[in-house]
Amino acid sequence: MTGRVYLVGAGPGAPDLLTLRAARLLEQADIVFHDALVHPDTVALAREAVRVGVGKRRGEPSADQPGINRALVEAASRHARVVRLKGGDPGVFGRVHEEIAALEAAGIPWEIVPGVTSALAAAADLGIPLTRRGVARSLVLVTPASAAGSARPDWAASVLHADTAAIYMGAGEAGRIAAALLSRGLAPATPVALVEDASLPGSRVRRGTLAGLHRLAAGRGRAPAIILIGRVLEGSVSAEDVAALLPPQIVTAG
Ligand code: SAH
Repeated sequence: MTGRVYLVGAGPGAPDLLTLRAARLLEQADIVFHDALVHPDTVALAREAVRVGVGKRRGEPSADQPGINRALVEAASRHARVVRLKGGDPGVFGRVHEEIAALEAAGIPWEIVPGVTSALAAAADLGIPLTRRGVARSLVLVTPASAAGSARPDWAASVLHADTAAIYMGAGEAGRIAAALLSRGLAPATPVALVEDASLPGSRVRRGTLAGLHRLAAGRGRAPAIILIGRVLEGSVSAEDVAALLPPQIVTAG
């Protein structure tokens, strides 16, 4: 038989940020391969399925991606519904293309189910929009991390060209990130935030400036953390924004 493989986003952490489509597929799944960071309550939705933990946590040896690819192909030869459950959105720094390539090579049908990526959950925890009229009209999702040996794309340039940046897999090298951006001319007073365990009850939010980013990161624990940079973090809504939102008669009456 040839089953179908669903590459499913589990969301950033909180189990109730899962999409309804993802929940339905988990309930119907025959076998689930899940990342280490996916919440146990989310994995538990796959009541009928064989559940296989794959993927790595920070500081642990790299996951055997070719092994996961082979396991997906093999599972689709024995099961009708195979779910590959990945943290956040499967297409954001999730190596989903490698899994897709293996499935395509084996002639196995697949589809992606999107999830809430951690940058969006971090912004929600901070209570800020990632774009804001008059302040930010572009957002970049970027990581300084790259596969060993591969040429690094110029991640710093993409931060400089965007109004708001969300930096994934960077908290461990926050000092180097700040130094790189400062040397490229980003102002030391640029607002930054570090959010750990975004969307979870223990979520920790720290705000500061680019010049002090290494200090924000130094106090973090083992939880996954994301760095946000940009003027949208400057804080409260301006009087001008409020005036623009009010009906004209109220503004003129004031
Ligand atoms: N596909 C995932 C990202 C995988 S890369 C997504 O869309 O979110 C792993 C990185 O994601 C971590 O190093 C961290 O930067 C970020 N991350 C994942 N979950 C997070 C969370 N709950 N809070 C903060 N950052 C998180």
